[in-house]
Amino acid sequence: MDINVLKFGGTSMADHETWKQVLKIIAQYEYPVVVVSATARTTRKLVEAGNLAANGKLGEAKVIAAEIKDRHEQIVQDFLSNNPHAKNKLIRESCLKNLHAKIGKLNKLLDYTARQETLSPQMNDAISAIGEQISSYLLAQCGLALNMMTQHIEARKIIKTDNEYGQANPNFFKITQHSGSLETVLENGFTPIIGGFYGEAPDKTVTTLGFEGSDYSASLIGGAINAKTIEIWTDVSGIYTGDPRFIPEAKPLAELSYIDATEMAYFGAKVLHPSTLKPAQEKNIPVFVKNIFEPDEPGTKIIRASEYEPDVLAISFKRGMATLTVSAYETVMGYSFLTKVFTVLEKHRLAVDAVNTTEASVTITLENTNALKDLSKAFIEIGNVSLEQEKGLLTLIGCSINSPKKLTSKIFDVLDTTSIDQISFSKEKRILNLVLPEDELIKAAQRVHKKLF
Ligand code: ADP
Ligand code: ASP
Ligand code: MG
Repeated sequence: MDINVLKFGGTSMADHETWKQVLKIIAQYEYPVVVVSATARTTRKLVEAGNLAANGKLGEAKVIAAEIKDRHEQIVQDFLSNNPHAKNKLIRESCLKNLHAKIGKLNKLLDYTARQETLSPQMNDAISAIGEQISSYLLAQCGLALNMMTQHIEARKIIKTDNEYGQANPNFFKITQHSGSLETVLENGFTPIIGGFYGEAPDKTVTTLGFEGSDYSASLIGGAINAKTIEIWTDVSGIYTGDPRFIPEAKPLAELSYIDATEMAYFGAKVLHPSTLKPAQEKNIPVFVKNIFEPDEPGTKIIRASEYEPDVLAISFKRGMATLTVSAYETVMGYSFLTKVFTVLEKHRLAVDAVNTTEASVTITLENTNALKDLSKAFIEIGNVSLEQEKGLLTLIGCSINSPKKLTSKIFDVLDTTSIDQISFSKEKRILNLVLPEDELIKAAQRVHKKLF
């Protein structure tokens, strides 16, 4: 059985017309397994409601819950009235029953959060997963109105994780065990539709896989069932040479290697969750990034090794960064200094995007979050600390081995007036990282893109 795992992104799943388009795409496959995100903005709204409840604004939180309910009711209503079917009355009832139950659960979680006066990571996950719980159920029901044999499958039955709320780690063994049931569903002629982004910890609590986690859900399932392809259907025609929202002349890449696509996601190209390629790479399953609205466009194919090797493949950038420099106290021995720095990072569970070292100092670039205050305090034990915020990271992905000299000269050519804080090149990873002031980042990205592509 050649199974295709298809993931449909939330940015696109905003209205009933797109739902129909999505179902039409699904109908073209013989054995599709479908993973869907929450509808546009829903996850963000859910998190906002959770925070409001925690901050004594339960009333406002419940207004958001009601808006989420209304919006989904409207989509179902529009879908069913535009796609008449004898069973529509039953479908509508089943949709409303499920939606009302989910919103009831959401309201209970908000009540609890308001009583606790804090939004725990566990509660944040339980609340934010509701978007996918709703969208997957409703889309599966709407499929029935098009005479499709779509069947909602609860993600918690398949995506088993640890209990690292907010960024849960999948249990590959258990996911493989439970994914077998999907093949049975397919053999019986049904198309499983599963909510992405969330799963379940061993104690049965809801966990999430982090932002953009639905991509990861799709590839975890694809890997587990040895899918023929994993397809990420979104609102752009593939992975572009730069973020098309900021760089309008960016072009989709026909082909990319798993490694380069991972680097790209990791360094800020929002189009994929950074862990998406891991399960695919392990099983050598091609990943496609395709456009829901232009299904005939080829999109981007991500495979083990790509023949296409220009000087540089693409650029990506990340805002909201900070640099932290730790300069060793004289009493700290040189050779133990780096160990100490990285031990502190490990203790705070913080990932670093770029590092530069001198004999007795380290400058790290990482996301600017509240955690940096505690981190700076911990570093004071080993050295003088200086923190600079409002930084941006500009990354050139897939730099060919011979190109750094050529690339750097081109970059310095166009960034003649930009102050560059750090620059580092990795031959192994084929990336070139530049740390810049945040307010110059977008302009710098646009100028570099223009020069290089
Ligand atoms: P979805 O809801 O389908 O998961 P996302 O918003 O997560 O969609 O990802 C698609 C968006 O990613 C695109 O609309 C685009 O604006 C943005 N994006 C950022 N960088 C890139 C890039 N290099 N190539 C393609 N899209 C990118
Ligand atoms: N809805 C989730 C998010 O916004 C997951 C996803 O869309 O991939 O992160
Ligand atoms: Mg996404």
